[in-house]
Amino acid sequence: MSDLSYLSPTATSPWHTYLSQVDRVVPYLGHLARWVETLKRPKRALIVDVPIEMDDGTVRHFEGFRVQHNLSRGPGKGGVRYHPDVTLEEVMALAAWMTVKCAGVGLPFGGAKGGIRVDPKQLSLKELERMTRRYTSEIGIIIGPQRDIPAPDVNTNAQIMAWMMDTYSVNTGATATGVVTGKPIHLGGSLGRVKATGRGVFVTGREAARRIGLNLDGARVAVQGMGNVGSAAAELFVQAGATLVAVQDHTGTLVNPKGFDMADTAAVLKRDHGIGNYADAGRIDNEDFWDVDCDILIPAALEGQITPARAQRIQARLVLEGANGPTLPEADDVLKDRGILVVPDVICNAGGVTVSYFEWVQDFSSFFWSEDEINVRLDKIMVDALKHIWDTADRHQITLRTATFAVACERILTAREERGLYP
Ligand code: NAD
Repeated sequence: MSDLSYLSPTATSPWHTYLSQVDRVVPYLGHLARWVETLKRPKRALIVDVPIEMDDGTVRHFEGFRVQHNLSRGPGKGGVRYHPDVTLEEVMALAAWMTVKCAGVGLPFGGAKGGIRVDPKQLSLKELERMTRRYTSEIGIIIGPQRDIPAPDVNTNAQIMAWMMDTYSVNTGATATGVVTGKPIHLGGSLGRVKATGRGVFVTGREAARRIGLNLDGARVAVQGMGNVGSAAAELFVQAGATLVAVQDHTGTLVNPKGFDMADTAAVLKRDHGIGNYADAGRIDNEDFWDVDCDILIPAALEGQITPARAQRIQARLVLEGANGPTLPEADDVLKDRGILVVPDVICNAGGVTVSYFEWVQDFSSFFWSEDEINVRLDKIMVDALKHIWDTADRHQITLRTATFAVACERILTAREERGLYP
């Protein structure tokens, strides 16, 4: 699958999943297929050592990464993840999915991603700041407002983006708000950014539900991962009349067929950073989350969650991929055979990068839009993109995932071809 000497991907690794998805789109690329190898290797991958002094005076070293998968259509764009399981290979896959996602919704960006192999919950706030600043300084040689623009991902947030922006600005001698997105509002952040990914999941879910005749009013929703993405999506579905019947996060799996109270859920998440202590719900075994009775399932945690075995158990009619890479390719086939519609990550969770694009544009013009303007523009971009992808899927009789790859890869490889090879 991969002839890159520095990798040994396993059958369930995110990079392997990504390569399988690319292989599936080749028959639909026509003459552009000659360029497909471009998509199977990152343009640039930087591994950095991140040494910091801990509060107790000892020194620790963390592994950091920034991968620019493809820059044919514009500067790199993609989040930064802090997680103990981060690897170069995972960051490569996440960067590649960003390439596809940005092209799929028509944003003028390439794909990039970064990460540090760390459990940030074990660090004090000061240690977190020192690690973030040192990492930013190390990757400073390849990022920049016109080169590669990081953003939040798992376990990173607006405060971390503020430190990144400040570090880059200090190092380059000028305040550069456009170097990262997902910043605090008063530092050049955009209204609507925090909930944008969840909003995009809702918008694509609403459109998909309408097309398959699933009424959101009364629909039962199950969510894995109640972080930035999952909680915002859940809230919007409940506002639309749906019932949140099951939640799983790193603290456990809870069910309540009558529905979670969203105000109580938000309060528990704010207090505990996990759903585990929510009172008005029954606790079930984590593995039993996969056959909870529901209409819509939203994986919004980590990749590789929907295995073929779990795909056999899923009861939902609609799977909305809030997370990146939550479904293994063989599980995709199982879901398709069982008639369960998957709105894939590369379009479903593109709301975040779309509002990041708005933030970047606003930073350049130093003119900021209202939240209503942001949400209306986001809605339109997502609806139009999904319609184009849906038509492509209908035309070729392929899944929405392969259709998104077809639309995106045509744009990326056309740019590749038109730019030509240098020298
Ligand atoms: P987050 O850190 O805010 O939340 C992650 C959630 O996942 C938490 O609720 C955590 O408890 C849960 N989780 C972690 N490990 C778990 C496990 N083993 N089982 C069940 N739940 C677990 O992260 P986020 O920003 O919401 O990102 C979630 C997913 O969405 C990731 O795949 C990310 O790449 C993707 N995504 C995020 C954005 C964004 O704007 N933040 C944009 C596009 C895609």
